[in-house]
Amino acid sequence: MDEISRRDFLQMTAGAGAFATLARPAGDVVSAQPAAGAAADGWFDRPMRWVQLTLVENDPGRFDPQFWLDYFRRLHADAATLSAGGIVAYYPTAIPLHHRSQWLGESDPFGTLAAGCRALGMNVLARTDPHAAREDVRAAHPDWIAVTRDGEPRRHWANPDLWVTCALGPYNFEFMDQVHREIVSRYGVDGVFANRWSPQGGDCYCVHCQQNFKAATGHELPRSTDRRDPARRQFLEWRKARLTELWKRWDATVRAARAEARFIPNGPPDMKTAGELAPIQFADNQARRGVTPPWANGRRAKEYRSVMGRRPVGGIFSVGLEEPYRWKDSVQSEPEIRLWVAEGTANGARPWVTKFSGVLYDRRWLPVVERIYDWHHRHERYLRNEESLARVAVLYSEQMAAASTPAGDRAEDHVLGMYHALVEARVPFDLVHEAFLAPERLDRFSLLILADAAALSDVQCAAIRDYVNRGGSLLATFASSLYDETGGRRPDFGLADVFGVSFAGRIDGPMQNSYLSLDADPVTGKRHALLDGLDDTPRIINGVYRVDVRPHDTTFASPLTLIPTYPDLPMEDVYPRVPHTTTGEVFLRQLTRGRVIFFPWDIDRTFWEVMSVDHLKVLRNAIAWASRDPQPVEVEGPGVIDVTVWRQRDSMTVHLVNLTNPMMMKGPLREAIPVGPLRVRVRLPQGARARGVQLLTAGTAPGLTEANGVMTLTVPSVEIHEVIAVDL
Ligand SMILES: [Zn+2]
Repeated sequence: MDEISRRDFLQMTAGAGAFATLARPAGDVVSAQPAAGAAADGWFDRPMRWVQLTLVENDPGRFDPQFWLDYFRRLHADAATLSAGGIVAYYPTAIPLHHRSQWLGESDPFGTLAAGCRALGMNVLARTDPHAAREDVRAAHPDWIAVTRDGEPRRHWANPDLWVTCALGPYNFEFMDQVHREIVSRYGVDGVFANRWSPQGGDCYCVHCQQNFKAATGHELPRSTDRRDPARRQFLEWRKARLTELWKRWDATVRAARAEARFIPNGPPDMKTAGELAPIQFADNQARRGVTPPWANGRRAKEYRSVMGRRPVGGIFSVGLEEPYRWKDSVQSEPEIRLWVAEGTANGARPWVTKFSGVLYDRRWLPVVERIYDWHHRHERYLRNEESLARVAVLYSEQMAAASTPAGDRAEDHVLGMYHALVEARVPFDLVHEAFLAPERLDRFSLLILADAAALSDVQCAAIRDYVNRGGSLLATFASSLYDETGGRRPDFGLADVFGVSFAGRIDGPMQNSYLSLDADPVTGKRHALLDGLDDTPRIINGVYRVDVRPHDTTFASPLTLIPTYPDLPMEDVYPRVPHTTTGEVFLRQLTRGRVIFFPWDIDRTFWEVMSVDHLKVLRNAIAWASRDPQPVEVEGPGVIDVTVWRQRDSMTVHLVNLTNPMMMKGPLREAIPVGPLRVRVRLPQGARARGVQLLTAGTAPGLTEANGVMTLTVPSVEIHEVIAVDL
């Protein structure tokens, strides 16, 4: 892209055929994805940089469209999402009850902006928001409004002048369908993007929801919100099906108005459906909530990639803070915005900046985003990823929330702890979604990690067992596979044969003051590689919860054994009552090719809670032992660095995102603290030679050595984001 102008590129990609040749060579790596074939057609993969301008009702006549168009041009933005209709129409709509902005007058701000973006060669999505309506809508169609459990029409929680609409009834299926048809046929946009299109503010008990649920299931709407209640589960399934039907309805309408256009929801009914239906998705994780760590944005990108494969994922970011207070104007520091976007980019999302209100109050973010987008534009060819080269995957489970685990054991914390350990261990990794466990998807990983993947169906267990039988390695923790997909507890682990242990009937915890003894092999007298770096201690702290298990091989000597809880007060009583046991707290299996390692305790969850470096060492050793081969990239040097590795058509890239910061475990950044030098070893793809190497941010070509397909180089310093780009 550097050699040809943007105009040339647009012309080259104008025809779908030319585009397909340019961006999608044969050998689609997402063949395991149901909708992979559909993704090759259309405009969706063209835009690399997105912008979104969400107007507020009094913007018309007050904001300057040309200012925004000039800014979009300076950003080298390829696509825009622009406010069109729904709660407020920003164009002269002809649909009764479609509320025109009170400030609209004779103007057409949506049309003006859309035409301006088109003139810049950009794709345009029309943004609608159907989740609220005014009193005149309620008066004319009371049945369009959502109904609370008490039978009252639902007022909007933030603006009591508005009513919340029923997402699953005629307001969306008929009225908004008409709105979408009008917008696409009048303006010829590339698609419609609907915000907050699913039920908002709670379950709806309106007459349509009652009738439709009864017609579908024969039952009344459930009152229970317990996910384990079968009636509740049935309701959730019905709601998902109804939303999927709505997605298809709107998509058919949009396509009928313009063949190339699509309906794209902001947030699918669930990720599996996104994987099946969507040509493109947008990860709406605009900024930190409270003090979430910055890799939260990379994680969201990984989640979307786990179902979207090669299809594009936009990473929506903003310059204001998210829930619960939602300050939507400029809030974050420059380093924080840059790090947030870098995490998205490094993990395969394309930047999409969103701004609410066409009138600006705080302008500090404008040059920051411009610099990020300019960098992205200059290095675009190295950011158009074909596949991740990570060899480690963590199972991404949406059904895990259904599993019944002990009080205080928060399932999500297992995943967060494992995620953080992988980042700290500098292991490039992907997520694989529980709905897509076919061999084509799994077999490119040498190691699959189940971070308390408690709820797994028999089919999912079988897919994981087959993966191990084909030579894959498995690392699992805690209650993985102890429950089925509905949260019902099995008599034994679904993967008991793979783990080599059975459930002994009890989950212990919370355990106070329990430890793990580090035991040498009774035959060789040597310690297992799992304990590397812990030579100077006979024991480390235990976790907080453990599953009692019975090993199948009773001769197995575990390198970690239980030192049971003993009093932590009064101080006079703080001594182990049982100094040593033979109760194994890790189980290792060496199969013909793969390796299996099972921790029957919450090493990942406890790591997230207390961040013990000893637990990190054990996890890092476990990943290395189970992976067998070295990781595709190894980084030596100080700091906390998120490492990802990608292949493009004629190149590969290694992203180094510097998370080193005194406030790193909290999202806010005051300044960027550079780290380096870093010594990096990169394994080139089989049979590939490096024709040239550059550091995209530093703008330099590093000195390097290459031997046996391994390239070694030094990155002098990483401020926030460096990319090693290797031409192949
Ligand atoms: Zn309803």
